[in-house]
Amino acid sequence: MSSKRDYYETLGVPKNASKEDIKNAYRKLALQYHPDRNKTPGAEEKFKEISEAYAVLSDEEKRKRFDTYGHVGAEEVFRGSEANFDEVFKDMGFGGFRDIFDQIFGGRAGGGGFGAAAGDPFGFGFNFGGGRRKGRDLLYDVELTLEEVLKGRKDEIELPKLESCNTCGGSGASPGTKPRKCSVCNGQGQTRRIYSQNRFSTFVSLEPCQTCRGQGEIIDKPCNICDGSGKVRKNKKIKLEIPAGVEDGVTLQMRGEGEPSETGSPGDLLIRIHVKPHPLFERLENGHLLYTLNLNFTDLALGTEVRAPTLDGNEKLKIPPGTQPNAILKLKGKGLPHYGSYSKGDELVRINVKVPVHLNDIQKSLLKELDRQFRNDDGSARQPF
Ligand SMILES: [Zn+2]
Ligand SMILES: [Zn+2]
Repeated sequence: MSSKRDYYETLGVPKNASKEDIKNAYRKLALQYHPDRNKTPGAEEKFKEISEAYAVLSDEEKRKRFDTYGHVGAEEVFRGSEANFDEVFKDMGFGGFRDIFDQIFGGRAGGGGFGAAAGDPFGFGFNFGGGRRKGRDLLYDVELTLEEVLKGRKDEIELPKLESCNTCGGSGASPGTKPRKCSVCNGQGQTRRIYSQNRFSTFVSLEPCQTCRGQGEIIDKPCNICDGSGKVRKNKKIKLEIPAGVEDGVTLQMRGEGEPSETGSPGDLLIRIHVKPHPLFERLENGHLLYTLNLNFTDLALGTEVRAPTLDGNEKLKIPPGTQPNAILKLKGKGLPHYGSYSKGDELVRINVKVPVHLNDIQKSLLKELDRQFRNDDGSARQPF
């Protein structure tokens, strides 16, 4: 997929288009090119293009990056996008985002590992799955502190996952019995209804069979463990490894750890990251952290050395004489690691001046003396220096 394409051109909107304009433009094009409707060659490719454009332009961060650099990394396009595909597709009467994206971009192989970390969260291997449906994805929310973002986190979680029922071997029929073929639909799961016929043609609609509810078979004696569904929920332990440097709002993907599918590969486990606000540090771009340090103006005038907190213990910090309020001092490498790299951001220490409120008599008289020193001989205030 090309990341050099002009997304605005793709959606046919001006550079200053509002979020609403972008959504409307995408809706219109998606209606036109949605693969459920448009079977002409090239329609899927077009649908992919406009979806990529929408994922980027409807996400403020990504749009900004595109405006500035002219491209967004291919692996970034859909990762943690604010684009609400579900909303767009649901009111169109199509399936949700995952459905359509699995259908078009699907056919992913199973196997462990974090897809997002490897760089291709939606597995753009463009092939039509030919009716094979992937199992459902599971979504798991994880909350991290900034300290955990610094080091990464290993965790073991228990997820109630749908698995094939051992008692009936997944058939749904009580042990010793078998599901029998539905005689109404002859095991097809659907019935043909002729709704219009003339000399030249017959119009037939295919509908799910009412008798077997589209299953093609009927279970007379359901398995009493799974109630005839053939599946049971079992708690399964899964090891999570959340890499250092993850950002709030991203979704990591563990391929094949979702729910099983009868006809395709299992779904994925999606791990959505939430980073808790920190009482001391504000997270900036590129792994930098911002810390505000309160000091007396005498500290700034005379210079001093303090111990500033970092995410990983205190660090010595020299305040040079004459440091001004709002000056930014740097603790190199004391920020967060960049996601997927060894480099780290810095801790930026912003100097804030605290003016003393309660002064004792000695402090008051010393300050008055200092004030006199700061004035001209005629008592007028000197310009700040
Ligand atoms: Zn069973
Ligand atoms: Zn039937």
